[in-house]
Amino acid sequence: MSLAEQAIPSGRPPSPFYTEEHEAFRSTVRRFVERELMPHVDQWDEAEEFPRELYRKASAAGLLQLGFPEEYGGVPTDPFFGIVKAEEMARHGSGGLNASLNSHTIGSPPIAALGPEWMKRKVLPEVLAGEKISALAITEPSGGSDVANLKTTARREGDHYVVNGSKMFITSGMRADYYTVAVRTGGPGAGGVSLLLIERDREGFARTKLKKMGWWASDTAQLFFDNVKVPVENLIGEENRGFIGIMLNFNSERLGMAAGACGYAKVCLDEAIA
Ligand SMILES: Cc1cc2nc3c(=O)[nH]c(=O)nc-3n(C[C@H](O)[C@H](O)[C@H](O)COP(=O)(O)OP(=O)(O)OC[C@H]3O[C@@H](n4cnc5c(N)ncnc54)[C@H](O)[C@@H]3O)c2cc1C
Repeated sequence: MSLAEQAIPSGRPPSPFYTEEHEAFRSTVRRFVERELMPHVDQWDEAEEFPRELYRKASAAGLLQLGFPEEYGGVPTDPFFGIVKAEEMARHGSGGLNASLNSHTIGSPPIAALGPEWMKRKVLPEVLAGEKISALAITEPSGGSDVANLKTTARREGDHYVVNGSKMFITSGMRADYYTVAVRTGGPGAGGVSLLLIERDREGFARTKLKKMGWWASDTAQLFFDNVKVPVENLIGEENRGFIGIMLNFNSERLGMAAGACGYAKVCLDEAIA
């Protein structure tokens, strides 16, 4: 049998990684993209936002839950499901829509991996059902690459932290309900960084929408923390051990971004040929 004859329905060559389950999931994502996204993406890009209801629809189609534990509303999967999703979601061509619709894939994994039980039980089911939006806030106005030197502080005062500083370019920054925020709880460098869950309605927490050259449909904001009181129980993982959590998160983010970039390149090639 030739390689083409052995190919699974997607037309891909046989693969040790992709099974029929992955291909069935690919069909589900493709249908969702064609029915729910493609007819509207241009309009949403122009409007610089998309309906919040889309999170619920994406959850109903099984697109938000990948890789999260079942007990909190997730669907444990291997990383190839995430790659399939990234490739298929690229087909509508709006990186901005994908970024905001999937901001929980960077905001919520630290909660699932390191968060206390109460936090997992409260936050994850709401986010994975598309009822609440999760964001990750690491980058600061002074720079994003040098994570170990972030400047936003969280000073311990009794049973809470007092957070001061600013975060830049935060995806889902205006609309998120839950922010996973990197803060400095200790001394300089990577060993002084922690992760805190900060809810949108905390006093002293404000945000400004940013205008961008691209990714228009994505909700991108600068965040401001002015003496924001956050309970100690909102700590994600151990104090001053947040840098490791951030780095673990970056690994899966890089994989998803790379798969998406290949997907967008494929769209460009197809359109150029057409
Ligand atoms: C649309 C958008 C959405 C984003 N969403 C989020 C989000 O949800 N959450 C979040 O936390 N962040 C987010 N970011 C921020 C993103 O992660 C940062 O832009 C990125 O980390 C780079 O940081 P920076 O822009 O401050 O650039 P800088 O760190 O200032 O870097 C500027 C340039 O200098 C180079 N450079 C930096 N350090 C060195 C070095 N030591 N040696 C040589 N070259 C160096 C860099 O490669 C780059 O070319 C988003 C950014 C954008 C544009």
